[in-house]
Amino acid sequence: MSQLAIYNPANGHLITTLPADDVVSVEAKVALARHAQPAWAATSLAERKACISAFRAGVVHDLESLAFIMTRETGKPIQMSRNELNGLLGRIDFFLAEADATLATQTVFAEGGMTEQIQHTPLGVVANISAWNYPWFVGCNVILPALLTGNTVVYKPSEYATLTGLEITRLLHKAGVPENVMICLVGAGAVGAALLEQKVDGVFFTGSYATGARIAQAVGTKLVKLQLELGGKDPTYVCDDANVQVAAESLADGAMYNTGQSCCSVERVYVHEKVYDQFVQAFVATVKTFKTGDPVAEDTYIGALTRAPQLEVLEAQVADAQAKGATLLTGGARGTGEGNWFQPTVFSNVNHSMELMREESFGPIIGIQKVGSDAEAVKLMNDTRYGLTAGVFTPNEARAKAVLEQVHAGTVYWNCCDRVSPRLPWSGHGDSGVGLTLSTYGIQTFTRPKAWHLRKA
Ligand code: NAD
Repeated sequence: MSQLAIYNPANGHLITTLPADDVVSVEAKVALARHAQPAWAATSLAERKACISAFRAGVVHDLESLAFIMTRETGKPIQMSRNELNGLLGRIDFFLAEADATLATQTVFAEGGMTEQIQHTPLGVVANISAWNYPWFVGCNVILPALLTGNTVVYKPSEYATLTGLEITRLLHKAGVPENVMICLVGAGAVGAALLEQKVDGVFFTGSYATGARIAQAVGTKLVKLQLELGGKDPTYVCDDANVQVAAESLADGAMYNTGQSCCSVERVYVHEKVYDQFVQAFVATVKTFKTGDPVAEDTYIGALTRAPQLEVLEAQVADAQAKGATLLTGGARGTGEGNWFQPTVFSNVNHSMELMREESFGPIIGIQKVGSDAEAVKLMNDTRYGLTAGVFTPNEARAKAVLEQVHAGTVYWNCCDRVSPRLPWSGHGDSGVGLTLSTYGIQTFTRPKAWHLRKA
């Protein structure tokens, strides 16, 4: 049996080695999930909600150890691991509060003995292939509504967050979800690819554009539901009337939180020329207050990068930006010592010829570009293959809305950034993906609407 080795990205040390799945075990596990699905769908929604409530209690009970496990395998600063787990509770509460109304059969017509209804039936077996950067959020955005709606789930967590994936699964089983209703696979991309070879009824993927495009090809001819939540190159525009200090502090956090490894991290900043110098100065001053350190230390803000190969991506973006005339204001190189460390890095005088302003960085690095008008800002914000989020800072609501209405993005922010709400749909334009999670749409997406035409005899 092959093994999956799990390393601590903060020091390179081996944490553990796990037996990994292979083509044969994946096939057997999907068959178990298939077999278990009708009985799970036949349970009442109240029973399924009770399981998810018990899961919530399990997360609360084990929160400290769960945060530690996530921090150790991903390098996420411990405070941010706790924040993610606490944030998950709000998402669970939302799903529990909305499930009944969202899944209730709707009567849309009743006249002259004819009734028309929409029933929300489960898809069946749902495959969830997931990312490591917010493993509780992105895993549970799929797993929890999928289970609530009567699907069984075969979940392939990222190879960089497998211990967390196993904890999610353990707590769901402990909460009463049967073993074959929620199945976790262990392994890297090959195990994900093996899962896609199986007969499943929906594929829900969170990860990079490159992998998402491969998955779309693999799934295409199977004609099953496919959702892809992919990367971004998320822009924010700071207008000349903005509170520069507030905007700088907020955007520095939005760019560097989780060491810049958020799909909705601020990845590009455009600042009106009238406040550009002032903004850049305040932004760099804020970044310099961010403490880099051991991810388990309480005061650490910048942790290790989860994946070592990303260090090379960041180095290449730095070299490219410098070669094309950008000004390096702080950082710009790997950190010292063992593990995957990169200094918080800020560039000014950037432009769209630079990779830094075009390709997802997924690290603690940002470019700040000067613009002369709202129209120029909109043009640059839309000059991207991605479209996950975009924001604007200005006290003027009408101005903000005028800008945000023209921006191609699934989510837009006024005077805030890097924010996800369970009440709102999470989706992207262009290479940021297809489909959505969260909101009541993110519950319904795990169902098939069945149309009933009922005539009384
Ligand atoms: P990734 O694409 O490298 O891997 C994602 C998952 O796909 C992993 O579980 C991996 O094992 C699996 N995989 C790899 N090759 C596969 C294949 N051929 N077939 C099937 N599965 C395969 O992405 P990542 O590094 O884990 O995550 C980072 C990316 O995810 C970033 O681009 C980030 O922006 C994006 N992301 C998006 C969202 C969102 O909601 N839009 C949320 C979080 C992360």
